[in-house]
Amino acid sequence: MSTTPALDDLAELMRYAWAMESEASERYEEMADAMDTHNNAEVAGLFRKMSRIEALHADQILRAMNWSEPPASPPGGFRWGADEGPETGEHTDLHYLMHPRHALDIALRNEQRAQRFYHALMTATADPAIRQAAEEFESEEREHVRLIEEWIARTPAPPSHWRHDDDPPSVVD
Ligand code: ZN
Repeated sequence: MSTTPALDDLAELMRYAWAMESEASERYEEMADAMDTHNNAEVAGLFRKMSRIEALHADQILRAMNWSEPPASPPGGFRWGADEGPETGEHTDLHYLMHPRHALDIALRNEQRAQRFYHALMTATADPAIRQAAEEFESEEREHVRLIEEWIARTPAPPSHWRHDDDPPSVVD
């Protein structure tokens, strides 16, 4: 499991933030692809937009820290999780049969986690540049939470049999 680092090592926190944003950007891209296979262009479009925003955050972190290249992975790494509990690091939650609602639920939990992280960072740092970046990110992540909640409200719950593929790729008649 990747635990949030203690709030006393700024560089480590920002490595964590960079890893979190990069991971989010990649996962959103994957989820956008999954939504394309459902012919759900709207949700795919939402995820591609989110992917670009999180990639921008990652770049802003590099600039705020004056890092000329991406930092080494934080201790313990960072992985998007489907749950608040211990994370497997597997992408099984990004199943190809995943319905828009599943993808949105996963996104919501991770956006909430990002928001909590920046809120904690914001209140913990004495560095004005970092504080400003953390504040900005916190409000953007809060906006992401709101956006995803809106989509969840108008996205039907998936059928209970969603893991069953009616037309699996390898069936021989
Ligand atoms: Zn976000």
